[in-house]
Amino acid sequence: MMQLRRQSLVAYGQPLCETVAECPRPHGTEVLIRVACCGVCHSDLHIQDGYFALSGDKRLDITKDRALPFTLGHEIAGVIEAAGDKAEGAVVGRSVALYPWIGCGTCAACRAGEENMCAAHHHLGIAVDGGFATHVLVPHPRYLLDYAPLAPSFAGPLMCCGLTAYGALKRLADRTSRRPVLLVGLGGVGMMGLTLARALFTEPPIVADINAEKRKTALAAGAAQAFDPADPQARKAVIAATGGLFAVCDFVGSEKSLQFSISVLARGGKVVVTGLLGGNFSIAAAMIAIKAIAIEGSLTGTLAQARELIDLARAGKISPIPAHARALDQAQAALEDLRAGRVVGRTVLTV
Ligand SMILES: [Zn+2]
Ligand SMILES: [Zn+2]
Repeated sequence: MMQLRRQSLVAYGQPLCETVAECPRPHGTEVLIRVACCGVCHSDLHIQDGYFALSGDKRLDITKDRALPFTLGHEIAGVIEAAGDKAEGAVVGRSVALYPWIGCGTCAACRAGEENMCAAHHHLGIAVDGGFATHVLVPHPRYLLDYAPLAPSFAGPLMCCGLTAYGALKRLADRTSRRPVLLVGLGGVGMMGLTLARALFTEPPIVADINAEKRKTALAAGAAQAFDPADPQARKAVIAATGGLFAVCDFVGSEKSLQFSISVLARGGKVVVTGLLGGNFSIAAAMIAIKAIAIEGSLTGTLAQARELIDLARAGKISPIPAHARALDQAQAALEDLRAGRVVGRTVLTV
């Protein structure tokens, strides 16, 4: 009997610990993946907590979505270890990245190809066991994406960190021929957004972050201009430099980041929000019509977008964010470092 070793969530708000189970055997279209590496994402922290902070004391409870013990991890790259008899193309030994945003396949979102928006989803590492483990079971080979010649530590994080930035920028693509896109917040997703915006759009993006070091890094990585949104003159400076923007991506999702993002819009501009930092945001209702603005949320991306993104990366059009490898049994320490803000780039757990 093959063993499945996992770093499991056994109680909300508690450290992960190792659990061992029998390795599942794939049936039908299922495919068993031996994990090579799995990225550590901010959403793993929220799942460990069991809630999202909304504003003040308000919390969105997310403990009802899964049975414990549960295996986190959704930025997975690995190798096909075994496949069911109906898993076409799932050749044992093939290296693949896993599209984790797996839907029910029958709801309106899934039928439209938006499994990431599924109402009854099976998202890996969110609702069903994910990649902080030696193996993970995938229901169908369609979710497996070839990634050679990329490193697995690049391919895995592309499936969340990369796809979140890509899905958001696609929602702004029709507005980027007018003026540059503004990227607010230069964490892992924001830095992916920067390399992607350079690959996708004609004009290099401008960026905003309260951290001077991050602004410097972004300028070195090709941002046209960098602003400090905490500077009271920042809004005026952006307007003076650009005339107002049509496309802003808010990777932070806080009251302040949204206020700033909206404040620099031109008439007809749009803000796409991917960040989940929390807080309340208010706007004078009439300004939505007067300025003809749009505020749109974005949640990761579709399977089709994941394929486009992997293709861009395989063609050498985007650069990886720095990845730091740690052993699987360091999962809890990796989560703690991320929580404490000690991680630059992406931590990947290697198995
Ligand atoms: Zn994630
Ligand atoms: Zn669905």
